[in-house]
Amino acid sequence: MKAVVYEKKGTVRLTDVSMPKIQEPRDAIVRVMRASICSSDLHIRNGGVPRAREGVVLGHEFAGEIVEVGAGVKRFAPGDRVAVNVESFCGECFFCRRGYVNNCVEGGWELGCRIDGGQAEYVRVPTADMSCTRIPASISYEQALFVGDVLATGYWAAGIGEIKPADVVLVLGAGPTGLTTMMSARLYGPAVTVAADVNDARLSLAKERGLCDVTVNPLKADVAETVRSLTEGRGADVVFEVAGAKNTFELAWRAARPNAVVVVVALYEEAQSLPLHQMYGKNLTFKTGGVDAGKCSDIMRLIEAGRLDTSLMITRRAPLNDIIVGYDTFANQKDGCIKWVVTPFEPDKSIPAQQF
Ligand SMILES: [Zn+2]
Ligand SMILES: [Zn+2]
Repeated sequence: MKAVVYEKKGTVRLTDVSMPKIQEPRDAIVRVMRASICSSDLHIRNGGVPRAREGVVLGHEFAGEIVEVGAGVKRFAPGDRVAVNVESFCGECFFCRRGYVNNCVEGGWELGCRIDGGQAEYVRVPTADMSCTRIPASISYEQALFVGDVLATGYWAAGIGEIKPADVVLVLGAGPTGLTTMMSARLYGPAVTVAADVNDARLSLAKERGLCDVTVNPLKADVAETVRSLTEGRGADVVFEVAGAKNTFELAWRAARPNAVVVVVALYEEAQSLPLHQMYGKNLTFKTGGVDAGKCSDIMRLIEAGRLDTSLMITRRAPLNDIIVGYDTFANQKDGCIKWVVTPFEPDKSIPAQQF
């Protein structure tokens, strides 16, 4: 079958690999119906994720149909439609029992990093009972595609941000994770959400779709100043640093008011520094990534209820054969690309069209 392989720093390739097989009793084999390219795939390609294994099949954001399950899988059977979680987790260890599934002693971010992922026709999903989320019949694969990664990340970030009604929230970055952070933040009822990005088209989209109230492009205006003008000079009540650009970590804590929560979602490729002597007395609370993607069933219910909708992010669909073009298009934000969606298979006639 075809799959995208991370060969070595700087190189990903679409190539033939062998079909995945059940290896452990809790495994499932999933036929990939929709997959995406994520910024984390670019970080791996750039050599920015030291734990990524050379030779691994990339892809950790996908949805599909279960075609085979191991003897220990209890909740799923062949034919079930599922969104797959970026994190593999046991559900039973010290961290899982507390909801910190990213640090599960048996897993964390494995798929498309340490073990073969979903930019492929089929994929082996470990700890399937925990790592798969059933897709209701009324929801398409495409609507469910981002549940296990980029939407889980925005939802998790908003949840730990301690947003209170009437807060002024600042989101740095209006890319895919920035957009899901904004739509998840909205569930908590902030008074004003400010979105900052250097890409005006992304800002306009976020505002048009009601995900934010105020937009600011740091190439044209001072972000911290804009936030202060909305808060009687205080700064943002909650800041989400999703951009991961050169100066955005510093901007995040500068734009925050004293005693604010700063959620650092971004995955940096370099060390960041915190000048504690300059910010003494500001009393910030920092919370850092990566996502604990343990609430995917809640997210699925919110999609079903129409309260979360990621369709605005899909700017291009193409078969797996075109994915290397997709890497370039996505990485360089060509053609207004926000999310490149891979459609490995032609729609199966036995599946109703609305489920794709
Ligand atoms: Zn990702
Ligand atoms: Zn665990």
